[in-house]
Amino acid sequence: MRPFSYTRAHDVGAAVAALSQERTAHLIAGGTNLIDLMKEDVERPTRLIDINRLDLKAIEDTPDGGLRLGALCTNAQTAYDERVRGRYPLLSKAILAGASPQLRNMATNGGNLLQRTRCYYFYDVATPCNKREPGSGCGALNGVNRIHAILGASEHCIAVHPSDMCVALAALDAVVQVEGPRGKRAIAFADFHRLPGDTPHIDNDLAGDEIVTAIDLPPQGYPAHYAYLKLRDRTSYAFALVSVAAALEMDGSTIRRARIALGGVAHKPWRVPEAEARLEGSPADPENFRKAAQAYVHGARGRGGNTFKIELATRAIQRALVQAVTMDTRDDPQLHRTTTEPR
Ligand SMILES: Cc1cc2nc3c(=O)[nH]c(=O)nc-3n(C[C@H](O)[C@H](O)[C@H](O)COP(=O)(O)OP(=O)(O)OC[C@H]3O[C@@H](n4cnc5c(N)ncnc54)[C@H](O)[C@@H]3O)c2cc1C
Repeated sequence: MRPFSYTRAHDVGAAVAALSQERTAHLIAGGTNLIDLMKEDVERPTRLIDINRLDLKAIEDTPDGGLRLGALCTNAQTAYDERVRGRYPLLSKAILAGASPQLRNMATNGGNLLQRTRCYYFYDVATPCNKREPGSGCGALNGVNRIHAILGASEHCIAVHPSDMCVALAALDAVVQVEGPRGKRAIAFADFHRLPGDTPHIDNDLAGDEIVTAIDLPPQGYPAHYAYLKLRDRTSYAFALVSVAAALEMDGSTIRRARIALGGVAHKPWRVPEAEARLEGSPADPENFRKAAQAYVHGARGRGGNTFKIELATRAIQRALVQAVTMDTRDDPQLHRTTTEPR
């Protein structure tokens, strides 16, 4: 690991000021991703700005009936919070499908959003990677690409965003609150992460001198009809090959509102609002689910190793929608649940 300086920030303003002064500095929260990347020589910050003392650890009701999640709440604190479990069980379930209890105790909400891809070539500094070193090429395009993107990829990068939490946040239409030298702003979750295009080294729309302070959940949390289906090589402690967050508002057997986000398939959680709109007002039946699934993978492209994901995603969407309607998860591949985890 390369030498670096260390600063502890005591308020958001100080953290922002320190970031602005030294653009090669990095914020550190739980450290579960950043420290790994520093050890692998992928990230080379000259300074770490420790934000763990900032007052961003609360989960609070918002005046509109939603919930604000502090950026420094841990993933565990968030997943087990009674309000999150009761009103946003989709989010709780998605978080608990990720990593391990130990990691979730350290990992923060802000860090989860900003975690970097798990592409093998990004991690291996002996190989080309446009995300790590712009202009060097992409080892995954014609390499080992089982875990890579089938949607929204470019000739420069086929990496995927690895988060589970973010897939649920995308389906829930969350809003990211950020603060920087130019003040505060709110970013719709759908606009937070970016597609790779020809700038794959830029993962998201957060400026280099901004900090995530909170994530806002709107009042509708879809507690009656939701599913988070995560398909992976092992049933625990593995990143998603494909995941689906499905949230429905039902009126009898008719779908009143539908939100679906896919994980493991693109550089950002994947939404197709037109497909959701077509489901709305339609009966919750297999044919409509099949059509929605087809619309979600429209334009998908496999690169050999990952081509299986197209069919996997199509089937996973249909299964998640059935689970969301019936709330029957007996066939859920997430076999290892504790009794405290929401179903
Ligand atoms: C073995 C292993 C398995 C895992 N499995 C999964 C999984 O299955 N599913 C899943 O979703 N995740 C998984 N993870 C990833 C884990 O969820 C992330 O590492 C974690 O959420 C990152 O949070 P952190 O607080 O530790 O971030 P850090 O490592 O501290 O920071 C990560 C990045 O976020 C930036 N950052 C942190 N906080 C802020 C903020 N408030 N504002 C702006 N920037 C910020 C940092 O500068 C850094 O660039 C796994 C991790 C490991 C190590």
